[in-house]
Amino acid sequence: MTDIKPFRVGRSRTGLGLFATRDIARDTDIVEYKGRRIETTKAKELEWVRPNRYLFEINSRWTIDGASRRNLARYVNHACRPNAEAVLTGGRMVYRATKRIREGDEITVDYGKEYFNLYLKPIGCLCLSCIEKRRETRRLARKRAARRASKSLQSKRRAKTIRKTKARRKTARRT
Ligand SMILES: [Zn+2]
Repeated sequence: MTDIKPFRVGRSRTGLGLFATRDIARDTDIVEYKGRRIETTKAKELEWVRPNRYLFEINSRWTIDGASRRNLARYVNHACRPNAEAVLTGGRMVYRATKRIREGDEITVDYGKEYFNLYLKPIGCLCLSCIEKRRETRRLARKRAARRASKSLQSKRRAKTIRKTKARRKTARRT
């Protein structure tokens, strides 16, 4: 890890986030998830008393409490298709780039199923891929609705034409 941080804390869709201030190559260690180490069993007890979304379970024995604002890694938001991942290296937890991250991009990791179901699912995930997925679903729904509307318009028109033809026939017979 270099001395100069390749990121800054900035505004994201969900509050604050961590953004690349220069291109970051794949496999680069970006930021360490720092915090007080507590025993995992203790962390679980504490969570019952007060939910803490910055608890990072390293393994069955140790958990990092990353709630401190000095822990800049706490600003890394979740994404369902992230560009970084948590790696345990030499006893330290770091977020490492899983692909090339471009300057200005938000740095994201997958928080895992448990966190997702607990904190994100109830409010709807706001990561880019989920927003795009929802946008696409809405677009398809609009398209289907438009198709249905035009079909019913067509069948109404057809019905009208049939009625008109019948009317004409009637008139024709009469004369
Ligand atoms: Zn998502």
